[in-house]
Amino acid sequence: MDDELVILGSGGGRHHIRTQYRATGGIIYKFNDIQSHIDPGPGAIVKINQYQEDPIKTELFIASHAHVDHYNDLSAIIESSRENLHDRKYNYYKKGTLITTNEILRYISDYHLNMLEEVVNFKQGDIFNYKGVEIKATKVVHSPKNEGFGIKFKLKNYSLAFTSDTMVYDGFSEEFSGVNILVLNLLRPNSIVCKRHLCTDEVIPYLNKIIPPLDSLIITHFGSYMDSPRSTKNYVPSQVKKLQVHTNIKNVIAAEDGLKINIRELLK
Ligand SMILES: [Zn+2]
Ligand SMILES: [Zn+2]
Repeated sequence: MDDELVILGSGGGRHHIRTQYRATGGIIYKFNDIQSHIDPGPGAIVKINQYQEDPIKTELFIASHAHVDHYNDLSAIIESSRENLHDRKYNYYKKGTLITTNEILRYISDYHLNMLEEVVNFKQGDIFNYKGVEIKATKVVHSPKNEGFGIKFKLKNYSLAFTSDTMVYDGFSEEFSGVNILVLNLLRPNSIVCKRHLCTDEVIPYLNKIIPPLDSLIITHFGSYMDSPRSTKNYVPSQVKKLQVHTNIKNVIAAEDGLKINIRELLK
């Protein structure tokens, strides 16, 4: 199995958008020889090239909500997923599937939407089958103004989920039960609470109630309190340690820009 995650950006929020201290390009998830790009924020097209991944191979595009750090480069990524846009008679080639919110569909031009084979308007609770893989929109509690969803992939041998931006909520642990690998957007360290995002101390009890326990947890989408010129230090290593000590999860990994993670090594 060659399934893999490639971190094109471990940063989240407006300070990292501005400074690119941590990049905001989202994550490439390769499964069953399918290349998907989750939440291509600003710089996604730069990072995919910098980290020597091939944008032409992307066929599944997912943008979880209409915050700039999650969908800014979506059109560039769609346009870059083919070597030629059209034939000599200007017949445009159609390729790929976009899964996103109704709101984002209003922001993407018809020119780019028409390049796609299929556009899926996704809402929390929806399930879409992509080439035999069940993709579910998980619940998020994030922005009152924007629709959004997390993403759970159910493959033959394992399940992997991305929380997207969310706070904890009743049912959070149940939403991710049966998941082997969870990619958690953890903006803030320790008990630095945010009204729209997670901090470590808040999420620990919910992680411990996921049954059976996760094989692996990947934390990412760090905000400026976690690690930036504005933070007193890089809190990421201490949060990894804290999660290792206080949860029942065997393997806790911190995302870094450019990190490539083999899925096989994440499974028990
Ligand atoms: Zn975000
Ligand atoms: Zn957001």
